[in-house]
Amino acid sequence: MQVIDCAPAMQAWADRVRCSGQRIGFVPTMGYLHDGHLSLVQTAQRRCDRCVVSIFVNPLQFGAGEDLERYPQDLDRDRRRLRDAGVDVLYLPSRTAMYRENFQTEVLVSRVTQGLCGRSRPEHFRGVTTVVTKLFNAVKPHVAVFGEKDFQQLVTIRRLVADLDFDVQIVGAPIFREPDGLAMSSRNAYLSAEERHAAGCLPRALAVAKEAVTEGERDVETLLGKARSVLDAEPTVRVDYVELVDPDTMQRVPTIGNSTLLALAVYVGRTRLIDNVMLDAVQ
Ligand code: AMP
Repeated sequence: MQVIDCAPAMQAWADRVRCSGQRIGFVPTMGYLHDGHLSLVQTAQRRCDRCVVSIFVNPLQFGAGEDLERYPQDLDRDRRRLRDAGVDVLYLPSRTAMYRENFQTEVLVSRVTQGLCGRSRPEHFRGVTTVVTKLFNAVKPHVAVFGEKDFQQLVTIRRLVADLDFDVQIVGAPIFREPDGLAMSSRNAYLSAEERHAAGCLPRALAVAKEAVTEGERDVETLLGKARSVLDAEPTVRVDYVELVDPDTMQRVPTIGNSTLLALAVYVGRTRLIDNVMLDAVQ
């Protein structure tokens, strides 16, 4: 596995691969890789000849007081996991290589970023779309894979690519979960044993609402109430939001449609975790 640390070298590699008629699949990450990340790698590999994974903890997408400086890292382990997974290139730019002196350009997707995580993290998606634009320009992928765990991010990237005519296919990958249902996340490493146990309420809250829809419940407030009561039962958990939204627009829905996204964000102790599930009203 090759490790490339700057955009010009990454672009030269991509040009060579493209000239040879091969397709490039790309998985952007912030590292501290888990099996969820590796499932995205497999999706990219199934669709393409070559696979590039980036690791970059992007300061632009962290707000003041968030976990930028303590974000978990284990580069040796990540490298081994990617090599063993058959990844061709690890793209590993430094902060200074990514944001050179006098950097002053930002990419903003406006409406789909306003609700949900955008409400509590106002700078977040602007940082994501700016770095993803730069990563796409460096890696020149045919296909880029993003996880549905960060559903609003996936929708935002699809909007970015459609609006700015990026020549890349965006593929969404299902949420990979721990045996108790907790969505895998690098941030799960922050949880104490007690918090990790409490975090089991996230998938349980989603499951309770999904079950209610299966049994015919369609009232938005009732469904949100059911999910909330599961979260509220955990003393270490503080709800940031629980919302039912249209999966295309990320706007709150007044009634449950064919497909409605139930999305939530909670703090377990100091750790902010997100999760979601699609509720299908058509049986
Ligand atoms: P991150 O390293 O957290 O920025 O995530 C990198 C990519 O992996 C994003 O597209 C995430 O949505 C995706 N991802 C993270 N956790 C999971 C998971 N449990 N299942 C599927 N995809 C995930």
